[in-house]
Order: sequence, then C-alpha cells, then structure tokens
Amino acid sequence: MSRMLKMPVGVLAMLILATGFSFPVMAREQEQYQSPLYILQLQSFAERTGPKKIDLLSYTVQSGDSLSAIARRFGTGVETLARLNNIVNPHLIYTGQTIQVLTFPGAVHRVESGETMDSIARLYGVDPGSIITVNRESTGSLLQRGERVIIPGASNIPETVRLEWPVTGGRISSRFGWRDGKFHHGIDLAVPLGHPVYAAAGGVVASSGYQGSYGLMVELDHGSGWQTRYAHAGKICVSAGQQVAGGQLLGEVGLTGNTTGAHLHFEVVHLGSRIDPLQVLP
Ligand SMILES: [Zn+2]
Repeated sequence: MSRMLKMPVGVLAMLILATGFSFPVMAREQEQYQSPLYILQLQSFAERTGPKKIDLLSYTVQSGDSLSAIARRFGTGVETLARLNNIVNPHLIYTGQTIQVLTFPGAVHRVESGETMDSIARLYGVDPGSIITVNRESTGSLLQRGERVIIPGASNIPETVRLEWPVTGGRISSRFGWRDGKFHHGIDLAVPLGHPVYAAAGGVVASSGYQGSYGLMVELDHGSGWQTRYAHAGKICVSAGQQVAGGQLLGEVGLTGNTTGAHLHFEVVHLGSRIDPLQVLP
C-alpha cells in the first residue's frame, strides 16, 4: 500500500511545483472529482506537510455562520455537511443549531448487520482501501451494527434506502394495489390500538398532524427521493423538522381518519410515486 502511495504523491508534488499552484487551490479543484485515489494521495501529502485529523465533531452554529463558512473552517464540503445533517436547504441553518461536522469531504455510514468494509465500499462506489485507511484507529476488522464508518470522498448517499418494518408483530390486512375498485397506495398492518410505530429508516419529519382521510399522520423524508408515511395514528411524538433515527418511536396506532379498525397504513414514496412497500421491506 505505501509503495503505491509514494508515486502519486510524487506526481502531485511535481504538479504543484510545475504549475505553481498553492495547496489550497489544488485541494479545491480536486475535491470536485471525489476520487478515492485522490483522497489517499491527499492524505499521504497531508501527513508529510502536517497531519490533518479526520474527525466527526459536534458543532454549534454561531451567529453569522453559513454552511459554506463552516465547511471552509473545517476543511470539508458543503455537500458533506448538508447530507450528514439532512439539511435540505444549506441557507437555512440557525444560530444555536447543533450540526455534525466531518472534517473531510465524504460521507458517514451507519453499519447494518452483516455488512463488511467491502460491501460498504461497493454501496458507495469507493475503494475499500480508502475506508480502511481513515477508519483504522476506530474500527477493527469486525464491524458492529450501528457503528459509524467514514467514507472518504463519497458525496452520494446510497440510492436505495434500507427500510425496516414500522411495527413489530401484526399481519398485513390489506396489500398495495386495487381493492374494491379503488387503488390502495400502501399496506395495512393490523396491530392493536396503542401499538408503537417506529421510523422505517432515519430521516427528517416532513410533516406531522391531521391530513384528511389519513387521519393523524407522520411523513418522513429519508433523502435521495425516498419518503415514508404512517397514517391513522392515535398519538404522535415527533414534530415537523425533527431528525429521527431508524427505529425511533414516532407514535402509536389509533383510529383517526378513514379507518374501520386499528391498523397502521404505511406508504413508501420513491421519486414522487407511491410504491409497494413489500418491494423494499426486508
Ligand atoms: Zn391502508
């Protein structure tokens, strides 16, 4: 590995000398390519010029801060911060807000059971070597479920969002599709009144409250064009704008809206269309 690194760093250094570019200019230009090899080159270069620790920090937004200013201060990218914190509009951050900062352009992945460095690397389309390089201090060869792994250079979160069942137990009392001459845009999960409802994946609460025939409903936005909806709730314990983790309690099953018996009406929206949740549930 180290032999492989020496050549590109040499080339990079020669390029800097030849063109007269200063280091920050190089960093900014190359950032756009998001190449894992570049990350390795840059890391090796940074180690020679003064080590830069790759870290995941909590930061409280100060008065006058902008996301781009924070990104510049920590040597990371606006895209990295926006995706890490599920910030849809980078102009909308407020003083006192706590955000997570990855001090390097990349992504942070929460490990699911059965995942390996290789499978995560494939998911993000990066070189597994680059993931191992930056996580070597915190991560052994064995990955724990729920552990966070830094993916250097990855700007895109995976296109597919992995969903978990929003309720435990119960049975599917109505499937997605035509039903009595009407199209049923979700699945009904028959569970007792007051049964807890959980977030099928991490995301941001897009809306929370009464919505016509849906009754009391929570809508979550998971990014990458994925949303989930939880209808006919009796109680809701999250509010719009709140960030939730996968498996977090959203509320409980009720009888609100157009419903004849206690059940959760669960919808999955992908790129604006409601799809069969059974296609994406495990
Ligand atoms: Zn339904």
